[in-house]
Amino acid sequence: MATRVDGDPALNGPTEEWIRRIGDHPEMRLRLLAEVTRVLGDASAVAAGERRTLAGKVERWRYQLLNHNAGHLDEHQAELAGRLDLLARELEGVAPRPRRSFRQRLASTRDRDREERDLESCLDAARPIEDVERQAARATDLNFGSRASVARRILLYAPLYLSNHCINHCLYCGFRYSNPMERDHLDLPRALAESEILGRRGFRHILLVAGEHPGMVSVDYLAGMIAPLAGRGFRIGIEIAPQSTSGYRRLAEAGATSVTLYQETYDRARYAAYHPKGTKAWYDWRVEGPERAADAGLRRIGLGILLGLGGPVEELHALIAHGRYLLDRYPGLRLSLSLPRIHEAPQGFRPPHVVDNDTFIRFYCALRAAFPTANLVLSTREPAPLRDRLARACITQLSAGSSTSPGGYRGRAGDGTSRQQFPVFDPRTVDEVASHLESDGFRPIWEPDEA
Ligand code: SF4
Repeated sequence: MATRVDGDPALNGPTEEWIRRIGDHPEMRLRLLAEVTRVLGDASAVAAGERRTLAGKVERWRYQLLNHNAGHLDEHQAELAGRLDLLARELEGVAPRPRRSFRQRLASTRDRDREERDLESCLDAARPIEDVERQAARATDLNFGSRASVARRILLYAPLYLSNHCINHCLYCGFRYSNPMERDHLDLPRALAESEILGRRGFRHILLVAGEHPGMVSVDYLAGMIAPLAGRGFRIGIEIAPQSTSGYRRLAEAGATSVTLYQETYDRARYAAYHPKGTKAWYDWRVEGPERAADAGLRRIGLGILLGLGGPVEELHALIAHGRYLLDRYPGLRLSLSLPRIHEAPQGFRPPHVVDNDTFIRFYCALRAAFPTANLVLSTREPAPLRDRLARACITQLSAGSSTSPGGYRGRAGDGTSRQQFPVFDPRTVDEVASHLESDGFRPIWEPDEA
C-alpha cells in the first residue's frame, strides 16, 4: 500500500492498522487497496478504465464509514475518511483539492456570520422591512441588470416531474414511501410530450425532478431522459437523489447543466428525526452531494433549506456557510439558493417552526446581502403577491405555471392533486407571470446563461 496522494502522506503507515481496528470487512478493504496500488502503478489504457471503477468503490467505502458513524468519527476514522477521499480523487484523475472540511466550517461559522452587520441588520425586526427590501433590490439591480438603463432580468423555468416513486420516508413529503398516493413514472415519450408543452409555453430551462428510487430513477434512466431533452435545445437542471461523482459525471456528459440539492436541515439530530429510513437518512452523503457534482464538472449548484424543519435563523446561517464553503472551494461556481417553505404536509405533519411572511422576506434579503451575485430562486409554493414582492427585492429565478406531479402538464382524466408533491399556491399561467414581470419593469428571460 504505497499510494501517494498529492503530497498527502501515503495511504500506508498506520492505515492498515486502522482498517483492522475499525473492523469493517478489513480483508476486503485491504484487497481493494492492493488493487488500487496495482492500478495506479500501471500506465496502460486498461488500467485507466479500472481506475474509475475503483474510484467509485473507494468513494462508497468512505460514505459507508461516514454514514455508519453518523458523523461522529474518531481520530483514525476521520483520517481514513480524508485519505479515502483524496485517493478516490486521484483515481478519478481530477484536480487535487484540499480535504473536504464543511463539517468543521459549519461548526465554526455561526458566530462569524453574526458579526456581519449587513446580514444581521436584515434580520433585525426593529429595522423597517421596506428598508431591507430596498437594500436587497439595489444589490440585485447592480448584479442582474439595472432597472434604470436595461430592465433587470428574471429567469423563468419549469419543473418537469419524472417520477413520484420514492423509497424514502421523509416525514414532510407526500412522495414518501408509506404515503398511499397514486404513483406514476414517465417513460421517454411521456417526458418528451411534457417538454413539448413546456416548450410551447416558452420555457427553455427545465428542472427534472424525481423521487429517490435507485431502481426506477437510475443514472441510466436519467441520462436517457437528459440527452434527448438537451438535444431538443432545452437547458436541463436536475433535482434528484444525490449521486456519486461518477454518476454526476455521466449526467453532465448526457447534457445536465445544473444540480439542485437541498439539505432540508443542517442540524444532524433533526435531520435524523425527519429522515428515519432510506438513503436520504445519510446526512453526509447528501451534504457533500454538491461537492461531488462540482468535482464532476457541474458548475451550477443550487442549495436550500426547507423552512419549518429546524430553527430558522440557525438554518439560514448554515446555508450561508455552505454556500461560502463551496464558492471558496470551487472558484467559478455559479451558486443558486432557495428557501422552500412548508405550507402543507401529508397526514397531519406539522412543521415545528412556522416562518411568517415578513421573516421569509427578510431571509431572502439576508441571502442577497451574503451573496450579491448568486441566483435566488422562488417556486410556486408561494402565493402570487408574495412572489411579486420578492421578485422586486431580490429573486432572479422564478418557476411559473408549475405542475408538481409526473405527467401533470399533459394531464389525463382523473388527474388532480393526487400525485403531486406539494400544492401550487401561485395558479397564474406562464404568460400571466411573464406579463406581470414586464409590467413591473423586469425582463423575463428563458435561457439560464444570461442569468
Ligand atoms: S423529499 Fe424527496 S426523498 Fe423525501 S420522500 Fe419526498 S421525494 Fe422522497
